[in-house]
Amino acid sequence: MIVSAARLAANLHDVREKLARAAERGGRAPEAVRLVAVTKTVGLEEVRALHDLGVTDFGENRVAAGQEKLAALADPAVRWHLIGHLQRNKAAKAVAGFALLHGVESSGLIEALARRAGERPDPLPVLLEINISGEDSKYGAPPEEAAALARQVLAAANLRLEGLMTMAPLDAAGEAARPVFRALRELRDRLQDELGVPLPELSMGMSQDFEVAAEEGATLVRVGSALFAAAQA
Ligand SMILES: *Cc1c(COP(=O)(O)O)cnc(C)c1O
Repeated sequence: MIVSAARLAANLHDVREKLARAAERGGRAPEAVRLVAVTKTVGLEEVRALHDLGVTDFGENRVAAGQEKLAALADPAVRWHLIGHLQRNKAAKAVAGFALLHGVESSGLIEALARRAGERPDPLPVLLEINISGEDSKYGAPPEEAAALARQVLAAANLRLEGLMTMAPLDAAGEAARPVFRALRELRDRLQDELGVPLPELSMGMSQDFEVAAEEGATLVRVGSALFAAAQA
């Protein structure tokens, strides 16, 4: 383990407390925000320790690493999230095992996923990744393309559109990320009206800004480093 079991438990408790208080500040129930523990920098030992502490949602940004971990942790109550950018040639592999794909951002990728998702017993849940801040180093579709991409997902019988995901710019920690999160929520609200479908999930917020994200309506926060820090922040 890269941190002691006691430290991991304390970090998790701290993140959950902060998350619950932030949800309440945003006028939301604490259960409305789910913690996705991002385990890309740690191994199975940490995953098992978090699972023992009651964590049921885990995130990985690589298909192969995620599948190794999900195969090792045999608990049907656990949901694995593929949170990272997904290459089209990995689409076939990504449809197996993951409960939700957060990084769907292009027409070509949607097409590739739709072609392979029939191999699953149930439709594959996806989020569209939107690049709100327009940073060109980042992945994600521009907001103007969101409606067309959403329509493409809705037209694919074996895909299920659950909402939107974004990443705030890395230099916009905490409060500075608020306009990005707010814009994603407003885009989601407009798309729901325009398309006439519910888009319940908003995946936004990481270690540096998950409290602001929870205040602004996040339903999924993706937190890694705050859980594995050697000392409490
Ligand atoms: C790594 C990663 C996270 C978690 O980041 P931390 O700063 O460690 O909390 C969240 N989302 C994505 C897409 C990531 O790749």
